[in-house]
Amino acid sequence: ELYNKVLELRGNIRVFCRCRPLNAEEMKGGASMALDFDSAKDGELTVLSNGSPKKTFKFDAVFGPQVEQADIFEDTVPFATSVLDGYNVCIFAYGQTGTGKTFTMEGTEEARGVNFRTLEKMFDIIKERQKVYRYDISVSVLEVYNEQIRDLLVSGNHPGMSARRLEIRQAGEGMHIPGLVEAHVNNMTEVWEVLQTGSNARAVSSTNANEHSSRSHCIHCVMVKGENLLNGEHTRSKLWLVDLAGSERVAKTEVQGDRLKETQNINRSLSALGDVISALATKSSHIPFRNSKLTHLLQDSLGGDSKTLMFVQISPNENDLGETICSLNFASRVR
Ligand code: ADP
Ligand code: MG
Repeated sequence: ELYNKVLELRGNIRVFCRCRPLNAEEMKGGASMALDFDSAKDGELTVLSNGSPKKTFKFDAVFGPQVEQADIFEDTVPFATSVLDGYNVCIFAYGQTGTGKTFTMEGTEEARGVNFRTLEKMFDIIKERQKVYRYDISVSVLEVYNEQIRDLLVSGNHPGMSARRLEIRQAGEGMHIPGLVEAHVNNMTEVWEVLQTGSNARAVSSTNANEHSSRSHCIHCVMVKGENLLNGEHTRSKLWLVDLAGSERVAKTEVQGDRLKETQNINRSLSALGDVISALATKSSHIPFRNSKLTHLLQDSLGGDSKTLMFVQISPNENDLGETICSLNFASRVR
């Protein structure tokens, strides 16, 4: 209740910044940290240049390299509640490839991420509320690659095979994707199976899964139908969990042909997303949803009383400072 009020005051958009730790290779190579997390508790992050403070950025939360998955999720819990209360929610991970977008969203089996934990929390709440509410939950897994939408729950649906392209239709107030598979789930075991099917489809679709995932947006959509058993009221809401394509700019001279088109599409959809969120944050009268497949897809779940959370993922390595600053600037713009 109180949380919803806080969000309203901020236009329903929150930005969390998370930094990965230096990895073993970087440590061995003696890489230095270009960031100072002393004021992380106050949502502040300072960028260092040659060891001295250069610029300070402020976000709704800043998570340094030592912060664990469970702690990150603590601050994400209210979004799980909001979805069950009937609000649309979008959670994004933005950043350069290798900064932990997939780690934050998917996580690993030992260190589960936001996707799994949010669904787990939702099923806990559903149990708590079962005397008063009945819920029906289904999950879709899709990918946007080169401005095309692909259903990852349709087996064999990958490039070179019978890839069926999905289109977005307007259906009343909402967006509808005819033919998209919606897997009904009753518990976390079933959720886990669906998530695995999605990840596997993504992995087999490419000879280099990592490279492919850095060039496509991986999207989980959780559809919630709720019924209040006391007054018969119905709610319908959606939770979008989006692992965005890598934000790094490929040096223009190095890419041509298909790669250039890919890069342009990534830049276009990420900047379209930034444009939409900042237009919403400043309450602009025109919100340019139609500039990319991604923003078009999310049209009915961004703005209005929907809630948005953006994780901006960054690297602590001084060598990545250029990209880090680009990401921090992007994030400051949407806040
Ligand atoms: P991205 O999806 O942005 O390309 P990944 O999630 O694949 O990046 O992360 C790159 C590597 O860094 C992976 O091996 C991942 O496990 C590791 N990593 C990222 N963030 C963290 C973190 N906060 N703690 C520990 N390891 C992390
Ligand atoms: Mg990734």
